[in-house]
Amino acid sequence: MTDITVKDLISLFTLIAETTAREKERLCELDGVIGDADHGIAMELGFSAAAKAVSELDPATADPTLVFNTAAKAFLNAVGASSGPLYATAFMRAGAAVKGKVSLSEDDMVSVVAALARGIQDRGKAEIGEKTMVDAWAPAAKACEAARQQGLPLAACLAEALKAAEAGMEATKDMIAAKGRSSRLGERALGHVDPGAASAVVVISCLHTLFSP
Ligand SMILES: [Mg+2]
Repeated sequence: MTDITVKDLISLFTLIAETTAREKERLCELDGVIGDADHGIAMELGFSAAAKAVSELDPATADPTLVFNTAAKAFLNAVGASSGPLYATAFMRAGAAVKGKVSLSEDDMVSVVAALARGIQDRGKAEIGEKTMVDAWAPAAKACEAARQQGLPLAACLAEALKAAEAGMEATKDMIAAKGRSSRLGERALGHVDPGAASAVVVISCLHTLFSP
């Protein structure tokens, strides 16, 4: 695979924005079961703002770090609470992980996935098993890095990441939330997928789609 360019990263944000817009109602319905039914709206707002902001950058002069930092700022401006600071931190970390690079290698992109997951986990202070988006992001990043260490190409690493994210999302059905609004529901949240884990799968599926041959 040729290097991932600023243009590719802009396409990634566009794809995520289009996909979250399509998935908005499903994500709101999931959130409605255990929260305030706004997760799909927040994700659509955040990613459409991020996609718009990065598409206004000049691909001739912007570098990957600027793309991620611009996305972070726009996402946070659009979504001040809950998932806003989590994804903003994720993008800032991704930007820091590729600082100084003009384009990204497959290894760099695996580092980006790891940085996104780490940022979300650090900012939200959630651990695996607490019924949050970390339950999808953390195993996805781990699977992606493990696949890369085995020498698999990026597309296969992202396929592994997606599989792990989906399994992690499914596992949230059997969890009682420890964080966020749904924690007040206790056992009533059992049997329902966490909306943040569901949207994480959407984002990771876009990464997989865009960077698969
Ligand atoms: Mg909500």
